[in-house]
Amino acid sequence: MVSYVSHLECAESGKKYEKGKIHTVSDLGKPILVKYDLERLSSEISRDSIENSKNPGMWRYSPLLPVEQEENRVSLGETITPLVNFPRLASCLGSNGETAFVKDESRLPTGSFKARGLSLAVSMAKELGIRHLAIPTNGNAGSALAAYASRAGIKTTVLCPDNTPEINVRETQIQGADTFLVNGLIDECGEIIANGKELLDWFAVSTLKEPYRIEGKKTMGLELAEQMGWNLPDVIFYPTGGGTGIIGMWKGFLEMKELGWIDCKLPRMVAVQSTGCAPIVKAWNEGKNFADYWENAETISSGIRVPSALGDFLILDSIKSSNGFAISVTDEETIEMQKELGEKDGLLLCPEGAATLAAYKNSLKSGLVSLNDRVVLFNTATGLKYPLPEVEASIKKEDVDYAVFKSK
Ligand SMILES: *Cc1c(COP(=O)(O)O)cnc(C)c1O
Repeated sequence: MVSYVSHLECAESGKKYEKGKIHTVSDLGKPILVKYDLERLSSEISRDSIENSKNPGMWRYSPLLPVEQEENRVSLGETITPLVNFPRLASCLGSNGETAFVKDESRLPTGSFKARGLSLAVSMAKELGIRHLAIPTNGNAGSALAAYASRAGIKTTVLCPDNTPEINVRETQIQGADTFLVNGLIDECGEIIANGKELLDWFAVSTLKEPYRIEGKKTMGLELAEQMGWNLPDVIFYPTGGGTGIIGMWKGFLEMKELGWIDCKLPRMVAVQSTGCAPIVKAWNEGKNFADYWENAETISSGIRVPSALGDFLILDSIKSSNGFAISVTDEETIEMQKELGEKDGLLLCPEGAATLAAYKNSLKSGLVSLNDRVVLFNTATGLKYPLPEVEASIKKEDVDYAVFKSK
């Protein structure tokens, strides 16, 4: 037994739910969160024992995760993702390059941070004896679920909007999931899954409709603290879709604070969205606690093309509690920053990650953050999964004009 879970709780009403049972959403239809006996945990597990863990990835935080039996951990060799600086681009922004870093989540299995949440969700599904999982996805969640579920021997059905990046759909299929394209948006895929539950008895792993993906995403925050010497940056820019990452990290920060593992000021949480789909930014600007459905969502940053988030109030709460903000950037700004960072510092971000860089640049300009702020931008997936600009220049081997190389 390695877990310190005490019970689960409705994120809105606080109503308690028993551990060791299968849960979806609360009676109110809101997310259910995992609660730990932090008092017992702090008396039995020290920060040092975490640091001394032989596990080189998210499972080093097992005491703060819900999986009870070690044999139920479904792992594909998760790593600690690096914090990479970008001095050349930073200097163009007027910075000395020592305050801003990219946390590069592309190094995880299946090339995205979705691995964290789905490793956890699949591990819990295994522990709870679930035999068939289903997910609506814009791409990365589907491939991560496929990979982890196949590894656990659990059947998986994946529904993707038919404009999901092709590579995501194909990688999902080849990792063993029954994969379908749907002529609709992600929430419509979710509806199809909800409506099929009675007939197929599958379990939906939709964002925040089960309690465990968020616990996996939480490890981004735990890992960040440990790799900064149990410290945290001043500001976190996070590409926000369903919000599991921002909610999970914030939950992790509060837990670590209560455990006494950190005593620094908590970071300002910045939710970054695209102007083509910015429900959280709109709600934030209007001072609302919940977000309206975003009609005609459209952006190249498919991971944050989420018109409505079940955890909207939790996202908005973490922004507010942390004195952060929400900000949207255009796809043009995103593409521009992706290109610039590749050219200047050799880092290929996914569009969602590049959106955080564009947001950082704009926030510096408008004074929302300063050059002295220590900033972490989340690159949530590998840029290799997305369409990239075509190479137009070519030469003929029979007749090489060396002048073309000079002009490049
Ligand atoms: C899913 C996804 C996001 C959004 O994640 P949430 O934590 O659910 O808000 C951002 N970027 C990429 C690449 C994604 O796949």
